Amino acid sequence: MRTFPIFVSFDGKPPLVVGGGELAAVKTRLLLMRAPSVDVAADEVTKELTKFAEQGLVTLIAPLPGIDQLRGRPLVIAATENDEEDSRVAAIARALGVPVNVPDRPELCSFALPAIVDRGEVTVAIGTSAAAPVLAQRLRAWLERELHPRLDALARLAGEFRGVVAKRVPTGPTRRKFWEAVFEGAAAEAILEGDEAKARALIDTAIDEAAGSEPAKGRVLLVGAGPGDPELLTMKAIRALKAADVVLYDRLVGDAVLEHARREAELIPVGKAKGAHSLKQAEINALLIKHASAGKAVVRLKGGDPFIFGRGGEELDALREAGIAVEIVPGVTAGIAAAASLQIPLTHRDVSRTVTFLSGHEAGGEEPSFEHLDLAALAGGKNTLLVYMGVSTAGAIAKRLLDAGFAPTLPVLAVENASRDDERRVLATVADVAGHPERLGLKSPAVLIFGEVAGLPASGIVEDILALEEVKRRA
Ligand code: SAH
Repeated sequence: MRTFPIFVSFDGKPPLVVGGGELAAVKTRLLLMRAPSVDVAADEVTKELTKFAEQGLVTLIAPLPGIDQLRGRPLVIAATENDEEDSRVAAIARALGVPVNVPDRPELCSFALPAIVDRGEVTVAIGTSAAAPVLAQRLRAWLERELHPRLDALARLAGEFRGVVAKRVPTGPTRRKFWEAVFEGAAAEAILEGDEAKARALIDTAIDEAAGSEPAKGRVLLVGAGPGDPELLTMKAIRALKAADVVLYDRLVGDAVLEHARREAELIPVGKAKGAHSLKQAEINALLIKHASAGKAVVRLKGGDPFIFGRGGEELDALREAGIAVEIVPGVTAGIAAAASLQIPLTHRDVSRTVTFLSGHEAGGEEPSFEHLDLAALAGGKNTLLVYMGVSTAGAIAKRLLDAGFAPTLPVLAVENASRDDERRVLATVADVAGHPERLGLKSPAVLIFGEVAGLPASGIVEDILALEEVKRRA
């Protein structure tokens, strides 16, 4: 049973526990964490339940409850530990549409009880759709350690100030930034350390400041999303996504990365996808300016690093010209990720003193001429070429390198989908690539690494590297 988490309020009829034994007592105690009172249907009950009844926390009602006793309940837990009776109660509850749980009988349940981390106002409920209760318990233990014991006080204080803040601090980005500053700053620290007076004073001052401030000005963060693996996002990138009102993202940015975006954020795809309309650079610039001018926190999320063949420079120019504040969050570029995955150093004292980042396409989609490069000098050795956007032009590039005097036996590594689950690597030589580029079987996105480093033994650690000669022999 895959489940959807919700938080139930107990301000109407009390929840009902059917049964009076140990199990029923445990569930009653759990419900009393939040319910003002619980009804328990049983004729005999444990000492603990009797005590709850004396304290007015539990009302005992007759066993074998029927339709009238179940109707209108926020929820029912059948814990008689008698299969027949539990099934009967579950059937009535289901017929009435009353949520029902029978411990350890998932087939009878219409809802599951989560593992709970309780910090008063702040409750964390963990569910694994019954697949891994032990994992849920471990997560709970971890959260117990991670969440400050006084988190409740912080939440309550924020709750107290909500009304004043709503009246005085302008809604939208200004207000969100106000709360972010409260939760991240000195006020939160003060209350977690137990100094409530100081926290109140700090929040009062912050309200005064925010109330008088101009509406927050929008800005744009050009954020590098890395090569695909969300583990390779920077903390800054994650923070930017969590604070974004609008995210404009490229085709190369995967869902696992986008999941970090604030849930209310507007996500706008702007990259090229096969068959889909993609925006021209000028249109992207215009969108960035439009949203930032409206006071929004805009994240322009780009694959890899925003300033490596990402046209980040053009966006930066346009934004500066429009007078919009810009911040750059670097990312792990595809070539660096590919090298890391293969365990080959891009610079190496013995075999590579320089690394050149190259685009395999000229502007306008032409094959590269490399006119701006002294290829003959690079052919001299101890240089590594890192080629982006070179899948369809790999053969032409390799030919040009041969013409410039590169050794035909120089190793080339192609890495497709670096850092993603479907990463693929192929090892070849410049002559192989020049002669039979199609044999690499490369699909975009891929980077090509030309240089002695591509032949370093470290690359042999990765087993699915195929030497092209080997491929040819097998074919
Ligand atoms: N700014 C990006 C590059 C954008 S240009 C960066 O820093 O990585 C697009 C090219 O990047 C692709 O054609 C491909 O060469 C390369 N690329 C992007 N992601 C890749 C990946 N996961 N694996 C291999 N190459 C990738």
